[in-house]
Amino acid sequence: MHRTRSLGSIVFLDLRDRAGVLQATCDPRFTPLDVIAVAGRLGAETVVEVDGVVAVRPAEMVNRELVTGTIELQVTALRIVGPAVTPAIPVARGKDEKLAAEELRLKHRILDLRRPELQANLILRHRLLQVARQLMTSHGFLEIETPILTKTTPEGARDYLVPSRVHPGEFYALPQSPQIYKQLLMVAGFDRYFQIARCFRDEDLRADRQPEFAQIDIECAFVTQEDVQVVVERVLTALWKEAGHDIATPFERIRWADAMERFGIDKPDLRYGFELENWTAHVQPDAASFVLDGVAAGGKLRGIRVANGATWSRKEVDALAAVAKAQGLGGLLWAKRTDAGWEGQGAKAFGAATMERIGGVSGDLLLAGVGADAVALPAMGQVRLELTRRPEHLPTIAHAFCWIVDFPLFELDAASGEHMPAHHPFTAPHPDDTHKLETAPWECRAMHYDAVYNGNELGSGSIRITDPAVQETIFRLLKVPADEIQRRFAFLLDGLAAGAPPHGGFALGFDRIAMLLAGSTSLRDVIAFPKTTAARALFEGAPSPVSERDLAALSLAVLVKEKS
Ligand code: ASP
Repeated sequence: MHRTRSLGSIVFLDLRDRAGVLQATCDPRFTPLDVIAVAGRLGAETVVEVDGVVAVRPAEMVNRELVTGTIELQVTALRIVGPAVTPAIPVARGKDEKLAAEELRLKHRILDLRRPELQANLILRHRLLQVARQLMTSHGFLEIETPILTKTTPEGARDYLVPSRVHPGEFYALPQSPQIYKQLLMVAGFDRYFQIARCFRDEDLRADRQPEFAQIDIECAFVTQEDVQVVVERVLTALWKEAGHDIATPFERIRWADAMERFGIDKPDLRYGFELENWTAHVQPDAASFVLDGVAAGGKLRGIRVANGATWSRKEVDALAAVAKAQGLGGLLWAKRTDAGWEGQGAKAFGAATMERIGGVSGDLLLAGVGADAVALPAMGQVRLELTRRPEHLPTIAHAFCWIVDFPLFELDAASGEHMPAHHPFTAPHPDDTHKLETAPWECRAMHYDAVYNGNELGSGSIRITDPAVQETIFRLLKVPADEIQRRFAFLLDGLAAGAPPHGGFALGFDRIAMLLAGSTSLRDVIAFPKTTAARALFEGAPSPVSERDLAALSLAVLVKEKS
């Protein structure tokens, strides 16, 4: 029972199920009086069974806003089958009534799930899952489930561990992805695999991440990178079609190094311009010494041109400068071009000769940063992102997909100062760089590709290492001790030594795709029972302490008892 309304002796019930709302009318002309009396007192969210006759509504009662607005159910009998306590949060809301606070809604998730918006999201999610399954099946892929209680599968996060009761002191790990298993399935001869896989990653709190999530996980043997990309493009085309959008393939392929140069980020939002420009060669001797010194030290001058930005206030430009500085850039230079010429601290720092070479037309705002690529490119990339978010900058297209290819094989982890795999340690080095694996490993590119949509990373994939010796080299470069390689990865290395076909694959973040296609901005809107950003399930109350007895059965003791 969504809501009731009384009009004299008539009671209108809005009944709701997953298909929508239907008006049931209790009228003394066809409804027994005792039924009307019960109907008048029904509390919201009570579950009822109603008998009646579906009838066309009188013309003056037609409700154009409701799909069922031309009909009503003329009630003859009504039974309360599921009485409801007063709901903690409203399900039926007035037009302008705001949603309750999210924490409260997560706590009362079943009520929130009754909201038509969330019902529509989960119905869409179901349809997308079926489309993915059909598409993969029609291309000859087999859906094969891999274990949840397993061994570590590194994807750059911490493992969730599950203690074994029967083997005290031993632990299973929940899979960060089915990566190793899907590779071993290739070795086992199932040359096309997919799975709607559950993955678990214990990461520090991050907005828009869920500790457990679903991905459309794919692996195939005897393929090139291009083959995998074609399959993924087909899946994405089918998913977007299901949500009512036609998209064009093939997607643009952009090399990682070019994406960084042009957009300062490896997941560029191609719906917008504002490409970064390299103005280093324009720098003339009359530039300020910090510009000259920066360039002499190997830094580059990276700039962005904003047409009609010359009218921006100082405050608006300062806000962009704050974004750049937060990324580690010393400062953001700016210059405005008016009919009177160039003005701004950037114009002074560059000097007339440099400005002349950079050029520009009246109305332009130029933004720039000097520095090493590792700092200046991402910082200017963030500035670009801010520009795309301004309301006057409308996207030129709705759906901008691309592939980012030729990623570096390793990246430097700022926190530890160590090299880490840019993807995961099973990614094959680029064939043109394999010879550098021993001499200059950190310069190697990888057979790793990401699919990007409107600035969102939809997924990653790679061609895999199939030579056990190369795999061992990678572990060694990552400083995994020999005994640990044996302990953690012997089953993979043995598998690769058993005759491994060349293979590669991909994983699409399914929750994110469902969120984007539902037009939502939170993963929690497309997951039935999600966790908060603090990895808590508020509805069921997990994680939760366990009793001393349960711990003892697992041969475990908790050292820290205070609640965090
Ligand atoms: N296992 C990878 C991931 O979860 C995807 C892949 O390489 O296929 O990101």
